[in-house]
Amino acid sequence: MTDTRICPVAGCGTDPVVQWRRRPTDAELGTVLARAATLSTDGEPEQPAGLAPPPTAATTVVAVQACGRHAIGMDLAARIHSANCTAPDPEHLPGCGCTPEPLPAQTPPSTQDTIELTTGWTLPA
Ligand SMILES: [Zn+2]
Ligand SMILES: [Zn+2]
Repeated sequence: MTDTRICPVAGCGTDPVVQWRRRPTDAELGTVLARAATLSTDGEPEQPAGLAPPPTAATTVVAVQACGRHAIGMDLAARIHSANCTAPDPEHLPGCGCTPEPLPAQTPPSTQDTIELTTGWTLPA
């Protein structure tokens, strides 16, 4: 396996140090689907229905990588980007030029047990 991954910004070519996720292009999704079809026909001829739904653009992500100089902001990197977000755009840094999907609904910040005092304070248990 040759690791040829480099920062995709034109003229950069530095080793990537950060990455974020984007949706696949139609061509990439086709590759993913073809691979999934191969896997499901190797071995068991009939997969139990519903065990592994086929990948779709909504369930597949592709990594976008960048060097430290072309890294997008952390808040943007936490979101899933659109299929055309194949590289950070130096003109838009620390943005990337696309409109990423919104973050999923936030879960409560802490699952730690807490004690609530009668005065209204919430303390770690
Ligand atoms: Zn770069
Ligand atoms: Zn983007």
